[in-house]
Amino acid sequence: MTAPATHDPTLLVHGGAWAIPAEAAAAHRQGVREALETGYKVLALGGSALDAVEAAVTVLEDDPTFDAGRGSFLTSDGRVQLDALLMDGGRMKAGGVACVERLRNPIQAARLVLEQSPHVYFVGAGAEQFAAAHGMILIDNAELVLPRERERLAHAQARQAAGFRDETFSGEILLDDKDPETEFKGNLDSDFPITTQQASAPDEGNSTEPNPGKHWWQKKSAQPGWDTYDTPGAPGPDFGTWDPTKDSHDTVGAVALDARGNLAAATSTGGTLNKTPGRVGDSSLIGCGCYADNLAAAVSLTGWGEPIMKLVLGKWATDRVAAGSAPEIAAREAISYLYNRLGGHGGIILLGPDGRFGLAHNTPAMAWGVATPSGLQTGLTV
Ligand code: ASP
Repeated sequence: MTAPATHDPTLLVHGGAWAIPAEAAAAHRQGVREALETGYKVLALGGSALDAVEAAVTVLEDDPTFDAGRGSFLTSDGRVQLDALLMDGGRMKAGGVACVERLRNPIQAARLVLEQSPHVYFVGAGAEQFAAAHGMILIDNAELVLPRERERLAHAQARQAAGFRDETFSGEILLDDKDPETEFKGNLDSDFPITTQQASAPDEGNSTEPNPGKHWWQKKSAQPGWDTYDTPGAPGPDFGTWDPTKDSHDTVGAVALDARGNLAAATSTGGTLNKTPGRVGDSSLIGCGCYADNLAAAVSLTGWGEPIMKLVLGKWATDRVAAGSAPEIAAREAISYLYNRLGGHGGIILLGPDGRFGLAHNTPAMAWGVATPSGLQTGLTV
């Protein structure tokens, strides 16, 4: 029996939240657009939200612009290790894989876990064996590694050796998130104004600068040993200069509502640059970087994974929608909570069962796209 179509199909995707530089803007918008077109075709033909998010994320994994699939960041020992999660909010089924090195499309392995296993989550060699046993081809890890990423890793390791720290998400003093004193005590509104995206999103042509006149790189460190920059591209020691083209983070994700009213979410990542082998971030952890429940909402997050996972932020946001918050408000509150509680930075896409949605980020940019029956929009800031 097929339930009648009662909802306007809606698809949101993101391609990561970070300081996307101007020269990478077009590739990000194009990648997000292609993912939207592919995923929305599934919905428009009456397909399920789950099929749509899997299709959209597959496109993003195949695009080396993003930190997912081929072209992902490398671990400290030079390998690609991928994490992905998919959740069906109608059946309340989930499938996840982590630390896989031999799969071109980990989101498809996650789908196999969701459909074909009584378990929810597989890691490493076990995940690869499960995927292979269900028909996926195992490739050599080298096929996922780009020379660009080898360079990026060398740059990051040189910076690390010189005592610099990763500022990709923070843009200011990056507190140790394991420290009980991490709680942010500044002025959130004036330091990092957050805006949210609603259905009336402006289309193409958004700036990559969310706060004109206030530059990401102009924030100065108060601590010796931290990077300081006055002007973009200011000369500095070779590996000391923080360079967004070399130090980018850009996980991908999608949330969808299909015509029958089912929600689904998917998130896929190569994790963080120079991560220790075996590290798993928020993206593939259920309720952290990804969650879907028809009785609440569907969500995908991106950003600095450790704070997001400690706050179980995906579930936190969907719970607020279930309790009556509009998704555009809940998205904004989630990012505020991430920053106020743990000094975290990132972005969120959140879709309610009635088709209302919210997008928010506190990074300089987030690649995003939305498709509804009235059209398709993409942007780099909200
Ligand atoms: N959340 C991802 C991780 O920590 C990184 C990202 O979203 O860019 O693995």
